[in-house]
Amino acid sequence: MDMISRPCPICGSSETRKIFAEANFDIDRLDSFAFASRKTPEYMHYRLIECPVCDLLYANPLPSEDFLTEGYGDASYDSSIEAHYAAATYADLLSRFISLLPERSGALDIGAGDGAFLEYLLRHGFDQIVGVEPSRAPIAAARTDIRPLLREGNFRCEDYVSESFNLVTCFQTLEHLYDPLAMARGVYQLLKPGGAVFFVCHNRRALPAQLLGRKSPIYDIEHLQLFSPSSAHFLLEQSGFSNIMLINVVNRYPIRYWLRLLPLSSGVKSLLITTLDRIRIGGWSISVPVGNIGVVGFKPKTELSFLNRVRC
Ligand SMILES: [Zn+2]
Repeated sequence: MDMISRPCPICGSSETRKIFAEANFDIDRLDSFAFASRKTPEYMHYRLIECPVCDLLYANPLPSEDFLTEGYGDASYDSSIEAHYAAATYADLLSRFISLLPERSGALDIGAGDGAFLEYLLRHGFDQIVGVEPSRAPIAAARTDIRPLLREGNFRCEDYVSESFNLVTCFQTLEHLYDPLAMARGVYQLLKPGGAVFFVCHNRRALPAQLLGRKSPIYDIEHLQLFSPSSAHFLLEQSGFSNIMLINVVNRYPIRYWLRLLPLSSGVKSLLITTLDRIRIGGWSISVPVGNIGVVGFKPKTELSFLNRVRC
């Protein structure tokens, strides 16, 4: 596997002296769940650089984009229940800004999985909804009425009509993208003036990540970059968005899912999960502030940005 060096993927800084962690992965240990969502952590990661300009933590060097795309296409999927819990959490957060959107027509969800969030968009009265998802397995697991709204593949700005959406969402996917800045700028172009982008990502500066250190599940072979409130804000600012707001996200999941994330051996986790399932409380859901952040930005109604000239 060829490894490729890169500058900071959102600010372009080539200052790579601050090494957060050296590479720790074994390509032979990657199985079909390595690129799956909400998997059991393997505690493997690429060499991680901390950007002194924008505060992003990013993998450098990393495998080629083609290698990673292949991994996602074939990734396994077993997290439909958790996907629906996550979608419910993010749908609740829509109430913070949904009234500011020009209209509830035209919504795109990037990294849509099995389309769980699209179900909530329909409930909120949106029409002309589309989701794009690179993995085949979650699309196959989608509800039959939602599946036709899902497109298989990576997000490519040129696949959509400019200024055709009022809302573009992307949850827990920014970390997986080869070029998050190109994606955010593409989203800007696809939004109608006054439309909003809504991203949710891990917050590497949050207390749980600080306490767990390298044992935090956010340091993972799937994650090509990790954001903080500063770097998430920077990403949207660099892409032309205004009125940027940061939202603290508290996820709700079944207890058995939270247990999978704990820094314990797989044997101990399995035993705990089996025991809780046996006494019928593994499926109980609890909210835990594990350190995710939401970031919302609006495309100005009157465009003055130089980004007017940026095209896909
Ligand atoms: Zn940077």
